[in-house]
Amino acid sequence: MTKPEAPITQDVLTIPRKLPEGGKRNLVGLTREELRAALIEAGTPERQAKMRVGQIWQWIYHFGIRDFAEMTNLAKDYRALLAENFEIAVPEVVTRQVSLDGTRKYLLRIAGGHEVEAVYIPEENRGTLCISSQVGCTLTCSFCHTGTQKLVRNLTAGEIVGQVMVARDDLGEWPKPGEPKDETRLVSNVVLMGMGEPLYNFDNVRDAMAVVMDGEGLSLSRRRITLSTSGVVPEIAKTAEEIGCLLAISFHATTDAVRDKLVPINKRWNIETLLNTLRDYPRLSNSERITFEYVMLKGVNDSDEDARRLVKLISGIPAKINLIPFNEWPGAPYQRSDWERIEAFADIIYKAGYASPIRTPRGEDIMAACGQLKSATERARKSRAEIASEAGL
Ligand code: SAH
Ligand code: SF4
Repeated sequence: MTKPEAPITQDVLTIPRKLPEGGKRNLVGLTREELRAALIEAGTPERQAKMRVGQIWQWIYHFGIRDFAEMTNLAKDYRALLAENFEIAVPEVVTRQVSLDGTRKYLLRIAGGHEVEAVYIPEENRGTLCISSQVGCTLTCSFCHTGTQKLVRNLTAGEIVGQVMVARDDLGEWPKPGEPKDETRLVSNVVLMGMGEPLYNFDNVRDAMAVVMDGEGLSLSRRRITLSTSGVVPEIAKTAEEIGCLLAISFHATTDAVRDKLVPINKRWNIETLLNTLRDYPRLSNSERITFEYVMLKGVNDSDEDARRLVKLISGIPAKINLIPFNEWPGAPYQRSDWERIEAFADIIYKAGYASPIRTPRGEDIMAACGQLKSATERARKSRAEIASEAGL
């Protein structure tokens, strides 16, 4: 149950971003309804609005066009009207690093000069893009680098969708108008496992995923999107109902005493409360198994007893358990469990009937692995007002 004294709040330092006054409105990240309203406001006749939404949508999200002048199925003066009122803007790539294993990490600059990271992980038969939902994170999980970052603000829906578009730019993945459709997808999966707690930025994440799933554009199926949460219980049912993607839970411990330390949101919603909510999730969204993420910390949560307790706790939930060898970062207070320990732990879970893949660390040489993301140019503490004015809020 909720403990009122628990120090977990959504608001501390979290600054939602509003549209700046004046300037051109960015069309990226608007829902179809919002795009329609924006077009009408700019002078599009109402009876044409639906058709224009469809055309513009396809240029932006199917062909990856950024310049209204290239929208050749629109009249010239209408293109000029669009260019006067709107822009098609994605985050700016500050640096792009490529790991020896092919993993790509993008440092992206967004409004206000803030920075987030996105990571592309190519595998044999799929390519997963790990995207961020916030600059930093207000939750201070003790093993996570992102959680040590002071400055936090929510990303807009456009900044979330924009990460997918930037990756497609870099991979050269946009189809050319008139050329036959190539069905191979380099970005075939999206995981909300970068910086931030996605369920503390629910509306923007929901709207962004609706754009990413829309069949006329980026067109990723809901089964290819996974949202990872530390356990924001009240938003979990909403995730099933309003987003419908797959769910991953940062579980990481089998007793409240240990989880309180590793994932402090546990003080607000403990293991029992969380598990009761999860029992309903697949039913609500008609989705597949829930992924339980479990970071392997030497001597902290990696005993045989932990493995057995874990299996007991999740019984009845369609689940797979993803074991994540701890990724170190400068000053981290933990060590990665030994490989034999991880395998013994995996074995107990596997024998109990659950898939227990061990997540191979990817992109470690460029600090792109889970939990290593943090803005390189993290700035000293600033006042809320300073941050707000810099971000044009
Ligand atoms: N905030 C969300 C999503 C981002 S974290 C969440 O916590 O679920 C993505 C995953 O990486 C989470 O399971 C997180 O607990 C894990 N993680 C964080 N730091 C890590 C580290 N140093 N090593 C390995 N995994 C880590
Ligand atoms: Fe935030 Fe997730 Fe890191 Fe915890 S593990 S601090 S919720 S990003």
